[in-house]
Amino acid sequence: MRPNFFPLVFVGVLLIGLFYLGFNSIWLSDFRCNTPQTNGITKEKPHKDLGLHSLPGLLYKQSSVLNGRADVVCVTPWLAPIVWEGTFDPTLIDSIYKQQNITIATTIFALGKYTRFLKDFLESAEQHFFVGFQVHYYLFTDQPEAVPDIKFGEERQLKVQTVPKMDRWQDITMGRMEMIAKLTESELVNEVDYIFCLDVDTKFYARWSVEALGSLVGVIHPWFFNYPRDQFTYERRPESQAFIPPEEGDFYYAGGAFGGSIQEVHKLTKTCNEQQKIDAAKSIEAIWHDESHLNKYFLYNKPTKALSPEYLWRNINAHSDTIKTIRFCSVEKDVAEVRPNL
Ligand code: UDP
Ligand code: MN
Repeated sequence: MRPNFFPLVFVGVLLIGLFYLGFNSIWLSDFRCNTPQTNGITKEKPHKDLGLHSLPGLLYKQSSVLNGRADVVCVTPWLAPIVWEGTFDPTLIDSIYKQQNITIATTIFALGKYTRFLKDFLESAEQHFFVGFQVHYYLFTDQPEAVPDIKFGEERQLKVQTVPKMDRWQDITMGRMEMIAKLTESELVNEVDYIFCLDVDTKFYARWSVEALGSLVGVIHPWFFNYPRDQFTYERRPESQAFIPPEEGDFYYAGGAFGGSIQEVHKLTKTCNEQQKIDAAKSIEAIWHDESHLNKYFLYNKPTKALSPEYLWRNINAHSDTIKTIRFCSVEKDVAEVRPNL
């Protein structure tokens, strides 16, 4: 006699179906917690200072703890992120900062022959620098008449401050610390949230935006990112306030780009200016001027975010396997021709 399996199969299929439906409804109800009405993330208290919460329903690539850049280090030993192409999602990070009404200040100095760099700097910044955000450029120049006429995007503006001419290029580059310290002391405090201080002999080539924001931000210098620290060009004379011994130091940071919150950048520039003044009183000038003092400051006040050399590359024609995107880059210049005292 052949056994009749039909009732058994029928009951089995029924049970599997019921189980699947039940499981699914539990899973779906869980999933619904993350839909617009009751966003799973906003149920938790949002981060008070930064409000780093994502938008409900925003689609982006899944976050991963296993896959990412394997060829570079993406976090410092004090757990600050190091920003490289491939470490952030532009859509996600833009949407997070879009919810905050932030304004970013940028300081630029163009004295003497450096006014020639303004047009390319400003035009390329309009294409790549914090696009879609409120940007206030603060330009310090000894020739306001030489400022090019540029059409700025909505919610972006240029403020020009006239400063006296200076004879030594070293005084110009170091003098920035004092002027930025003054600017961030009062005028800017209620006007802007973050500030970046950038060299003007530069040009933007790709996105440079909210992924760079942090309380205290340094850029890893494009010449020294693969050097041992005893070969960094830190100030090595103990008489200088910028002195760093060969066995100390994290990275060699660029003087041509740094930033952070107004309060932190005020502290940084005020300290560096004071250190420069102490050196000057002793007739000593640090080897790389403001950059040497900036490096000393960052040794004791660790940046909360470090930007890879993508954020200030050395030459648009120089290539490196680790640099997938050149975002901002120095323009070639004949120093003997552009600097006033060479
Ligand atoms: N600078 C200037 N006029 C000068 C020399 C320097 O305006 O005659 C400013 C300008 O903003 C420049 C910055 O100081 O980007 C730093 O100088 P420089 O770019 O020459 O230094 P480097 O990047 O070559 O070390
Ligand atoms: Mn420069």
